[in-house]
Amino acid sequence: MQRDEDIIDTIRPSHFDDFVGQKPVCKNLKVFIEASKLKKEALDHVLLYGPPGLGKTTLAKIIATERNVNIKEISGPALTKSGDLAAILTNLNPYDVLFIDEIHRLNISVEELLYSAMEDFKIDIIIGEGPAAKSITLDLPKFTLVGATTRAGLLTQPLRERFLIPLRLQFYEEDELVKIIKRASSIFNIEIEEEGAYELARCSRGTPRICGRLIRRIRDFATVNNVKVINKELVQYALKELNVNALGLDLQDLKYIKSIQEFYNGGPVGIETLAAVLSEQKDTIEDIIEPYLIQKGLVKRTSRGRVLTDKGSEYFLAHAS
Ligand code: ADP
Repeated sequence: MQRDEDIIDTIRPSHFDDFVGQKPVCKNLKVFIEASKLKKEALDHVLLYGPPGLGKTTLAKIIATERNVNIKEISGPALTKSGDLAAILTNLNPYDVLFIDEIHRLNISVEELLYSAMEDFKIDIIIGEGPAAKSITLDLPKFTLVGATTRAGLLTQPLRERFLIPLRLQFYEEDELVKIIKRASSIFNIEIEEEGAYELARCSRGTPRICGRLIRRIRDFATVNNVKVINKELVQYALKELNVNALGLDLQDLKYIKSIQEFYNGGPVGIETLAAVLSEQKDTIEDIIEPYLIQKGLVKRTSRGRVLTDKGSEYFLAHAS
């Protein structure tokens, strides 16, 4: 039997044809990839930004597959020394994709090395120590850097300017999530009724990663309850057990809404204060909790702080109080 961990990579679409949604992003990328192939050049550097779980890593891999090159994946904070980056860059083949996740969290010396690597495909490195140390310039293969970030605003200007293809990923529509759910369930070899798929899509916070996570848990409920076909009732039961409510908001979201309403009378309240009240990192609030609540019209960011909208207050009265 295939284990879940093996299946996760199977679920990840490897071609544009399987990648649901993000139409404008995919349309542009296809053109740029095709053009780079025809010109026999490396694809220009791509910056993918948007909330977690929307498909940035998946798209980076698709770019490499469609361009028929290798991909080297690394997380920004893990690149602590510029020497490590130099080693990675010099080992790339022409046109390869270097994927740096969380690129807004690069160490400054690493970031500075990237500037010349991205622009001129050259890096200067220091060989030796003390008076005998000398700087040499290394030529790099023409590669494509794909950077992913949840916080494009935190990128320094020199780094941001070097990405000639900046693409923003959006939350997914319900119909798109239903397609993703159906595809995932067929890979998992389980059947889900249309209504069940829609119910699950509505509760997935517009995010494929959440769909994938929930469908795995729902499958567990189906197995234990000996249910062969997942229907709406099973989805509703499982979501209730998992503390996911109708808009897909989880306990963390509800706590956020409740804090603004109960402690600050609907706001405005500053992000630092909210972070302290919720015992959460400011980044987690800004990157993970807020984007969806803002998109759903429940919360607004204003110059004086966060404010619940009328819809947010109504939501509080109905669900979070
Ligand atoms: P990110 O890098 O933005 O955090 P990932 O690329 O890791 O997100 O995607 C999270 C999960 O969601 C992966 O398991 C992937 O298979 C799935 N996924 C993301 N986007 C899509 C999509 N458009 N179609 C189908 N599955 C997707």
